[in-house]
Amino acid sequence: MEKSLKEIKELLNLLTKNNFALFPRVKDPEKRLRKLFSELKPHLDRKRKAWVDKVLKLLDTYPQMTQEQQKRFLRELHSVITLKFTAEEIEKAREKELPPKERVVAAGKNLKRAPKLYPIEAFFQPVEKIKGITAKRVNRLKKLGIESVIDAIYYLPFRYEDRTTVTKMAQLKPDREQLVKGKVTAISQIKTKNGKELLKVTLYDKTGAVSLIFLNKKVFGYYKLLFEKAKKLGKEVLAYGKVKRSTSGFTIYHPEVEVLEPGRLEKLGRILPIYHCAEGLKQTTVRRDIHFVVEKVLPFMPEYLPEKIRKRQKLLEAAEAFWRVHFPSDEKPEELQTFRSPPQRRVIFDELFLFQLALALHRQKVKRERGIAFPVTEELIEEFKKALPFKLTGAQERVLKEIVEDMKKPEPMNRLVQGDVGSGKTVVAAAAAFFAAKSGYQTAVMAPTEILANQHYKKFKEFLKPYGITVGLLTGSMTKREKETVYRAIKEGVIKVVVGTHALIQEGVEFKNLGLVVIDEQHRFGVKQRVELKKKGKMPDVLVMTATPIPRTLAMTAYGDLDVSVIDELPAGRKPVKTEILFSDELPKLVKRLKEELQKGNRAYIVYPLVEESEKLELKAATEMHHFWSEKLKPYRVGLLHGKMKQEEKDKVMEAFKRGEFQVLVSTTVIEVGVDVPEATVMVIEHAERFGLAQLHQLRGRVGRGDRQSYCYLVTSREVGEEAIKRLKVLESTNDGFKIAEADLAFRGPGEIFGTRQSGLGDFKVADLRRDYDILKEARREAMELIKENPELNGLEELKKLMKFRFGEKFDLVEVG
Ligand code: ADP
Ligand code: MG
Repeated sequence: MEKSLKEIKELLNLLTKNNFALFPRVKDPEKRLRKLFSELKPHLDRKRKAWVDKVLKLLDTYPQMTQEQQKRFLRELHSVITLKFTAEEIEKAREKELPPKERVVAAGKNLKRAPKLYPIEAFFQPVEKIKGITAKRVNRLKKLGIESVIDAIYYLPFRYEDRTTVTKMAQLKPDREQLVKGKVTAISQIKTKNGKELLKVTLYDKTGAVSLIFLNKKVFGYYKLLFEKAKKLGKEVLAYGKVKRSTSGFTIYHPEVEVLEPGRLEKLGRILPIYHCAEGLKQTTVRRDIHFVVEKVLPFMPEYLPEKIRKRQKLLEAAEAFWRVHFPSDEKPEELQTFRSPPQRRVIFDELFLFQLALALHRQKVKRERGIAFPVTEELIEEFKKALPFKLTGAQERVLKEIVEDMKKPEPMNRLVQGDVGSGKTVVAAAAAFFAAKSGYQTAVMAPTEILANQHYKKFKEFLKPYGITVGLLTGSMTKREKETVYRAIKEGVIKVVVGTHALIQEGVEFKNLGLVVIDEQHRFGVKQRVELKKKGKMPDVLVMTATPIPRTLAMTAYGDLDVSVIDELPAGRKPVKTEILFSDELPKLVKRLKEELQKGNRAYIVYPLVEESEKLELKAATEMHHFWSEKLKPYRVGLLHGKMKQEEKDKVMEAFKRGEFQVLVSTTVIEVGVDVPEATVMVIEHAERFGLAQLHQLRGRVGRGDRQSYCYLVTSREVGEEAIKRLKVLESTNDGFKIAEADLAFRGPGEIFGTRQSGLGDFKVADLRRDYDILKEARREAMELIKENPELNGLEELKKLMKFRFGEKFDLVEVG
């Protein structure tokens, strides 16, 4: 399948490349295509099969098409094949249509608990202390980075070899290790042309046959006997190994073989754990070493998690979980491979729980500072909500409640509110400002740009004016006189809420009683600015808002000093932006779509990646593109925004676009984060493959802010390659910023997104933050709850010791407890 698919792709690439430059030179491509598609068809799922049937029909008429028709046909073919036919997806779709596979499972090795357990610190001892361990074994374990007994227990298999799932002969795939089950037909010792001898045995089931080949003469006798006996008794045989395709069908060289006798299987019918090896160590040795330790010590391991948590989370006991991770028996192979089997879940939960517990204790220590306890009542909350022109979403309600809880407490709030673009963070912040004002305190709202400050100023006024709360604005572009008037009003406490830019942290600004600090689009500010604004008051509450979709997994661990709230729901009635990948030669289609939208009175953005080589080049490119689109989209007017403009000029252009002085904005810079132009319904992103996923998502968030249907076109070239297409397809498939961020993370790894700051994220032995977010969430919740109920962890000595052993140093918790 993969071979014919690859050939189809290569042929179509060749034909369509450089606007069909080579097309005249390729003779009768339909013949080759017909052959390749016919080969591909049997490996497809029903939907794709039907499509291929249509293609085959069209290929029949290909010679009668005009050249233009042929090109259009090939272009379409190329698009569908590139976008909808990745080997991975095809296989997934196909597997779904197949019946579940049979399994053969041998009796497993069970954990035998010792009558008396050891205290947990026995497991912190070096492996040398284990009775009967040899110095050689200790040395090998050290090579794997294993010092203590618990290190060995935590040295988990990174994958498993499934020798339990039987693959039918007809469904065998080449170059993969698979288990077959069948009866013996032929056994023959053959001499090959070059004089070598081999033993060939044929196994068959109802769907087909496979040849087993042995080349080592010494084993011929043993296997002949085994297979002849099985043949005579009509017994089924299991064989496991890498399947090869040969001219005569599928072959396995030197398979592991066992006659199927229930209850007596040794090597097969098992799931084999595979461990990372250090240099010079063999898998079998590593496995034996780890198993040695695990078998010796696990019978003595105590349970350290509170029973309540274990029951609630449906977790196995610690010793049992660790045992089954190293000695799986009846676990489901696909669960093991994805690290979602019950024993793995317990082990991953453990690590994340201990980490979150340590983090929570650390925070508890930090939080002993005294701040303001705002008297926020239910009535006050109702009062605010009643006057809103809309109903808060469930997510907004939840986050608001979290903020209120924080504000009521005497310790200062340090909360990060994350929410996708358009999720409605502003109203939540306005509510907090309202509560502060009603409690007699001032609020400062800091935004990264003038235009955003202006926008927030308007919004906050809208929300707060009805209550007689005075909102002021302070930005750098105001005259000295204007500023001084505002300074005075802030100092005297006439202005209750002031919205502004960096101008807020200037020396002249003094508050009467600043109680709440709101910072928008946090990633543009450093921690320093946050602290400077905070210093304008006495321990004010701090609320940070960001639309940057930091994956929740990372936010929870990365922002050690911030509590995280997430608005993960868009207001009702929002239509998700329809996203489509277009190839650069599909310009006419794009122009048509753009004009359709402009005709309706809507507006469009066309964004190019930053050209950074030189100032002159960028200006030239920007001007050319502006010119190009002005021509193409006549009579609509096109504006230009580029990276070499001053902030003021940019703001001017943005304002003009907002007012509708032109309908299309061509931009070589990333459009100002958070700007609201509800009439904008189209976002075209050129060279989309050059942007990161998170950035593309941010850009897309500029449209779809009203109730009109919006569109995003990701323009790329036909030659970008499968990996790039795969990334862009993530955007096509979802509008969820967090999912996208997590996909981005999977593509690039956390290091690249956060740089060195995040280096601590690799400290987990088993948990993988990309994979284990769902478990992290639960672990965090349980840790928080436990700390709330039992801040000193009284009576949980084992747990406390283990946590300190694992994470104590990192969180400076050595004196805790
Ligand atoms: P962001 O989270 O991107 O800052 P905003 O706070 O600017 O989003 O909100 C986007 C738009 O949605 C605004 O026009 C706002 O008034 C509106 N909005 C916010 N919450 C709701 C809601 N619950 N129902 C309807 N519209 C809402
Ligand atoms: Mg915003």
